[in-house]
Amino acid sequence: MDKKTDTKSKMYFGAAKLRIPGGVNSPVRAFGAVGRTPRFMVSAKGDRITDVDGNEMIDYVCSWGPGILGHADPRVIEKVKEACDMGLTFGAPTPREVEIAELIAELVPSMEVSRLVSSGTEAVMSAIRCARGYTKRDKIIKFKGCYHGHSDGLLVKAGSAALTTSVPDSAGVPADYTKHTLVAAYNDKESVKELFQANPDEIAAVIVEPVAANMGVVLPEDDFLPFLREITEAYGALLIFDEVITGFRLSLGGAQQYFHVTPDLTTLGKIVGGGMPVGAYGGREDIMRMISPDGPVYQAGTLSGNPIATAAGIETLKILKNDPAIYKRLEEKTKKLADAVRNAAGDKVSVNQIGSLMSIFFTPGGVKNYEDAVRSDLNAYAQYFGFMLDHDIYMAPSQFEAMFVSDAHTDEDITRTCRLLQECMENMHE
Ligand code: PMP
Repeated sequence: MDKKTDTKSKMYFGAAKLRIPGGVNSPVRAFGAVGRTPRFMVSAKGDRITDVDGNEMIDYVCSWGPGILGHADPRVIEKVKEACDMGLTFGAPTPREVEIAELIAELVPSMEVSRLVSSGTEAVMSAIRCARGYTKRDKIIKFKGCYHGHSDGLLVKAGSAALTTSVPDSAGVPADYTKHTLVAAYNDKESVKELFQANPDEIAAVIVEPVAANMGVVLPEDDFLPFLREITEAYGALLIFDEVITGFRLSLGGAQQYFHVTPDLTTLGKIVGGGMPVGAYGGREDIMRMISPDGPVYQAGTLSGNPIATAAGIETLKILKNDPAIYKRLEEKTKKLADAVRNAAGDKVSVNQIGSLMSIFFTPGGVKNYEDAVRSDLNAYAQYFGFMLDHDIYMAPSQFEAMFVSDAHTDEDITRTCRLLQECMENMHE
């Protein structure tokens, strides 16, 4: 039995399951991988999130990334309230859209021209359409274990032996829709070379999470991203960085600034909307001029560039821009958490950490690709998750997700979390 009271969450979950698939509006929220009842949340402030039973938890999910400033930052909330008073949506151009496009170009210089959409999924789907329109080629390469949203062509991680054939991961996706999606292995240059050699004039783009964060956090090896830059150029394909998670998180200029590798196109989500539903895609001007109405690649959205969403996004980006030391603070805090785990568990676990992203894998020997990640002991992960939840620490309810630290995480809460991580690791390995 759960130590904490979750009576009301259980009640809501029961009711939710009757009317919503799995009781949730996005699958990971159902806690299926950790065997617990999902907490139904009512409010969040700073680094704390509070559920319907009144449990106040230190939150390391941070809404899966948007919450880099912590929850309900008063500066952002104020701008959102101001925007609300002026009208929720116009379906017409607004000054804020100009401001945010300029800010994006300033902070992520490769995004000379960008388009706003309402989710990361849409951003990636549209960037790929743009790349195909520009190169007049159909195939794309993605990496096993990288997630790029739920559009049909990207729900592929491919069978183990098949680097050149692609099967959809989801029912309802015709195999015909994924036949142009080739799958390579993350951090494996040879697998990419083979695909280019087999399809030299057919690959429109390589899309990659520059730091993979959807198989847990997996860092690129030193020469992996520069290699992708070189090989795409050599074959006339585009390089797309999916920075939906890393954008404005690894650094103000995202992973591309952090690793000094410049993609042709970039996709953003999460932080760019400051907690509101926003995605963006953009890149080199000549490529982005393909997009309608400048060019022949169609893409549109009723709520794209929504005034409330752009108000939240602009304020969040401005706060980050005016306080660049935030990235050092985030790194220090996250490193403390990583060190606490490493010190307590030694080499029985693999801890991947970069900036404010982190994952604990219950497998020794390091994790640098999908095969390593899936070796993690998922029962151990569930045990760790349950222990932390019972101590009011809200961690990612799946091994294959990142843990996020925000600027609102107080030193006191980080210290408390370190203590509990240590206790948890020691108990697990007795
Ligand atoms: N790309 C990456 C790298 C992501 O992590 C996600 C979602 N976590 C997406 C795309 C899809 O974004 P959304 O859920 O906003 O559609």
